[in-house]
Amino acid sequence: MFGGIETGGTKTVCAVGADGAVEHRAQFPTGEDADALADRCAEFFAAHPVRSIGVGTFGPCDPDPGSATYGHILNTPKPGWSGVDLLGKLAARVDAPMVLTTDVTAAAIGEQRYGAGRGNQNLVYLTIGTGVGGGAIVDGRVLHGRTHPEMGHILMPDIATGGVCPYHGDCFEGLASGPAMAAREGRPAQEIPDDDPAWDLEARIVAAGLHSITCTLSPRCIIVGGGLGSRSALHTLLPESLSRSLAGYVPAPLLAAPGLGADAGVIGALTLAQDHSQG
Ligand SMILES: [Zn+2]
Repeated sequence: MFGGIETGGTKTVCAVGADGAVEHRAQFPTGEDADALADRCAEFFAAHPVRSIGVGTFGPCDPDPGSATYGHILNTPKPGWSGVDLLGKLAARVDAPMVLTTDVTAAAIGEQRYGAGRGNQNLVYLTIGTGVGGGAIVDGRVLHGRTHPEMGHILMPDIATGGVCPYHGDCFEGLASGPAMAAREGRPAQEIPDDDPAWDLEARIVAAGLHSITCTLSPRCIIVGGGLGSRSALHTLLPESLSRSLAGYVPAPLLAAPGLGADAGVIGALTLAQDHSQG
């Protein structure tokens, strides 16, 4: 058995399993206390021993195994988490080799191996919810770069105003996230029905972000997930919005909803652990 930990901005999921199947799982709030979270993860893996553990964490984080701050959370507006040595806290409590990446990179791995992007060597997983984030697989390899891509913070054309990103205002996340849509429309996204015209602007904003991602990474497939990103209202409008934006200059990638649903990240983390163990 292998272990997976997906640490998101609001909740953390621990799971054991193999070959893309989850055997046992537990879920708890991520909270503001990293030691308390590491304790809960350790309790879970004490009851379910594993050969190795993959960790997919919210970012920004340091996923470079050669770096002195490997596995640390970097600057984050999330209270209690800036500079936290997440991997160190887990490794001090759980006796298993560990490997860490971002939550969205883990989701990209899960979707590529067992979900909607199965067998695809060039794929992007994008989540749109409280924030916007993306993970990429390029020519079959995970793309980290210096730290990791931050697709949610690419700059946007002049489509909308009033963006909510504390760092950049009208960046992709600032305009497309759930809080951004709520601020624009005066009600939470989950209360906006599928036939509401508000989705037209949301789809044009998301398509602008997908346009830049498509032109930069040339994915065959972009999987759009997350609480807001999984809405069928958005998926119905996105292909046409993206095609119109690309204007036939490059072929549009296939757009898909996550085949693994909300489990993409934790299954990707499990898969990372299994790959790590099996070399
Ligand atoms: Zn931003």
